[in-house]
Amino acid sequence: MHRVECDAAVIGGGPAGLGAAASAKKSCSGRVILMDRDRELGGILQQCIHNGFGLQTLSQELTGPEYAEHYIDEAREAGVEVLLDTMVLELAPDRRIYAVNRAQGMMEISAKAVVLAMGCRERNRGAITIPGSRPAGVFTAGAAQRFVNMEGYMPGKRVVILGSGDVGLIMARRLTWEGAKVEAVLEILPFPSGLTRNIVQCLDDQGIPLYLGHTVVDVHGDERVTAVTVAKVDEKLRPIPGTEWKIPCDTLLLSIGLIPENELTRAAGAVIDPITQGPVVTDEMETSIPGVFACGNVVQVHDLVDNVTREAWVAGEGAGRLVNGQQPTGPTVRTRAGDGVRYVVPQVLHVESLEKRDIRLFMRVARPAENVNVEAVIGERVVHSKYERVVRPAEMVALTIPLGKVNRGKVVDGTGNGQPELLVRITPRHRDGGEKA
Ligand SMILES: Cc1cc2nc3c(=O)[nH]c(=O)nc-3n(C[C@H](O)[C@H](O)[C@H](O)COP(=O)(O)OP(=O)(O)OC[C@H]3O[C@@H](n4cnc5c(N)ncnc54)[C@H](O)[C@@H]3O)c2cc1C
Repeated sequence: MHRVECDAAVIGGGPAGLGAAASAKKSCSGRVILMDRDRELGGILQQCIHNGFGLQTLSQELTGPEYAEHYIDEAREAGVEVLLDTMVLELAPDRRIYAVNRAQGMMEISAKAVVLAMGCRERNRGAITIPGSRPAGVFTAGAAQRFVNMEGYMPGKRVVILGSGDVGLIMARRLTWEGAKVEAVLEILPFPSGLTRNIVQCLDDQGIPLYLGHTVVDVHGDERVTAVTVAKVDEKLRPIPGTEWKIPCDTLLLSIGLIPENELTRAAGAVIDPITQGPVVTDEMETSIPGVFACGNVVQVHDLVDNVTREAWVAGEGAGRLVNGQQPTGPTVRTRAGDGVRYVVPQVLHVESLEKRDIRLFMRVARPAENVNVEAVIGERVVHSKYERVVRPAEMVALTIPLGKVNRGKVVDGTGNGQPELLVRITPRHRDGGEKA
């Protein structure tokens, strides 16, 4: 077996892995190796040829491949070593990685710090058990995107899309532009799952109807899909008898959610958050396994690549600090999702970090709401708050706790002898509507 030693090893060469590898290299200037199973770097971005990437981190509106290229160049210029066509098979808790590729065969890579950046995969038909026959013509939206954008193959001419996730919305527009007729997008929930800008640009502007509170109850066809039957659902998301109608089509695309790719993470023994399906992480993006960090869609499904890159910088710097022996020590605070919030990442904050720099919390809300404050609370005290005109489950909310807002005193005063906890909740807006300390 080929054996390699390095300071930091990064698994996954999408925007998360690229950002983490470059920032780890800059932080520790040791040997950093970046591995990806694909033949090129960039991850999912390589098939996202639409624009809308990089508005925040690069102040430009780029396509996915252009955004990827920027960070591929940065990682290479920083001196990151890249291993492509390299599949990571196993991660041991002592940070030994087992991987395989054609050139070196089996490899054991020992690293002082590991960053997990394996992204996520799509839920498919099996995940939601749609009844009906099993004809050809049922694809996930991401598979269809790869066919159209990378392999020059149209999956069909008359299309129904189940689920209003961003990949499906983007594909509704893409297939329309390529000459297909997108008959409808169906969403089982009473609100859309994708970004508002995608609803407007990809459906409204193309004249594609969106049916909220609807699902597919039957798929017809012997060899190829010929139609789907759809129906309204009740408040428990069960189809309502008598509301069915049939839509002729040759293709059904599924855009029904993404699942973080955490097989390696679970097998290594990291604690997984049951809501995000990603590892529990600290403000350094370190998992419960010492020296193993994580970022990007492997931690939580992101809607904006800029947030992936920012999270990756934090993970890379954390890995660099570990290599340099400068990790934070001392007490930690757990974050907890309060009223109106589904989850908060990171789940663990070092008080020392809160005293040294701004800390950004990411969350998703449980339901849409207008004119609210997003509040961080310790004990009975609101330590920071920001106003949001609209919050929606489809759009990740960020709350930055500025340096100095939380210190050891506030944590001890607020939580007494109990487990220190920082609660994040949604409340109706304060009368002044502004930031509150
Ligand atoms: C269709 C679509 C449209 C989008 N549109 C936008 C948009 O307009 N604007 C925007 O800002 N964001 C958009 N996003 C979101 C953004 O692109 C993603 O959040 C981001 O790309 C996730 O980055 P990542 O590095 O975590 O994952 P990925 O890009 O998925 O990268 C993960 C990498 O890990 C590798 N990998 C996984 N397992 C292994 C293993 N065992 N061994 C080796 N390698 C492995 C994979 O090959 C892959 O290259 C879109 C996403 C999608 C899917």
